[in-house]
Amino acid sequence: PLTLSRKASDVKPSSTLAITAKAKAMKAEGIDVVGFGAGEPDFNTPDNINAAAIKAIKDGFTKYTPASGTEELKKAVCEKFESFNGVHYEPNQIVISNGGKHSLTNIFEAILNPGDEVIILAPYWLTYPEIVKLSDGIPVYVYGEKSNGYKVTAEQIRGAVTEDTKALILNTPSNPTGMIYSEEELRAIADIAVEKDFYVVADEMYEYLIYGEKKHVSIASLGDEIYKRTITCSGVSKSYSMTGWRIGYTGSSTEIARMMGSVQSHQTSNPNSIAQKAALEALTGDQSALTVMREEFDKRRKYIYERISQMPLLETLEPEGAFYVFVDFSNVLEKSYKGKEIGTAAKAAEILLEDYQVAVVPCADFGFDNFVRLSYAISLEAIEKGLDRIGEFVSSL
Ligand code: PLP
Repeated sequence: PLTLSRKASDVKPSSTLAITAKAKAMKAEGIDVVGFGAGEPDFNTPDNINAAAIKAIKDGFTKYTPASGTEELKKAVCEKFESFNGVHYEPNQIVISNGGKHSLTNIFEAILNPGDEVIILAPYWLTYPEIVKLSDGIPVYVYGEKSNGYKVTAEQIRGAVTEDTKALILNTPSNPTGMIYSEEELRAIADIAVEKDFYVVADEMYEYLIYGEKKHVSIASLGDEIYKRTITCSGVSKSYSMTGWRIGYTGSSTEIARMMGSVQSHQTSNPNSIAQKAALEALTGDQSALTVMREEFDKRRKYIYERISQMPLLETLEPEGAFYVFVDFSNVLEKSYKGKEIGTAAKAAEILLEDYQVAVVPCADFGFDNFVRLSYAISLEAIEKGLDRIGEFVSSL
């Protein structure tokens, strides 16, 4: 019979993309919507990076490359891992993929067998459980407490480990909370990974976007034993405003890199040759755009955090990295709107979009039902206008 794959049918459509699509459709109708849904920087890709891609085309660098990426880009990734993350990898430990999401897909294809459990720290980026399930793994959730910045403690992780635990996904700075794991917290987590012998998939996609005094720490830099068990993932999407170019990369053991490269060689072959040249320029060329973008995000972060903290009913913690604010809507959900209890963050988001023309992301698919994520990867003027509207909504309740 003409049935479809059970595994594919189980995949949840991305709620982030759904709300963004609805907001875009409203904009297309001429409605002045403020979109806090964006998961990408609003800056243009820096000119030097664009120029490198144009040069690649003119030079005819438009053919297959080695499936796991060019040697020159792998070397540049090694240098970046060494200087920024304090982690030593050789080029044969690097796999260049078609974006961070693709790196994660490769990793779980390479390490999971049916029934293996993967510990996911909630709130989490909504793609993690779906990617794990597509590779026949079982997501196991551990929930962070507000008192700990919604981060999960090493002891909580210990409590979730079973004989079937194969890996833990660790995302710092975090999407959706903007929180950062400290070296001390990472050491405690590393100790458990080593003791219980599971992999750590360290998603460090937002590593350059850290504000204030805190520093990014890569768990793989904390000793030989944890280094062996860690697959470090990053990419150029968020740091260099290159979301459309689709280049991600990983550092891992040579064995895992070989497996991932082999999977990739059959599934997609090499990542786009021109985008690889662009990524090479991003990593090795002028780095000043990183600072310019980070400083701009920092201004917006301070503004959005202050305004939300002053609003009635809303609660939030000051984000430390990435470009998201994670807002507790619990008090809003208990209120009535037009004679009906609001009830869910999805309903609150719907009201905000339809009646106040503001798009926010409800976080049920991130594992936290009563929360909403706001991205500040939009202009300060748009943030101001959007917050005025959210303020109007909450004050009316
Ligand atoms: N990891 C996290 C935590 C993300 O938020 C994202 C994008 O939203 C990615 C990875 C994937 O990035 P890419 O666009 O390179 O696939």
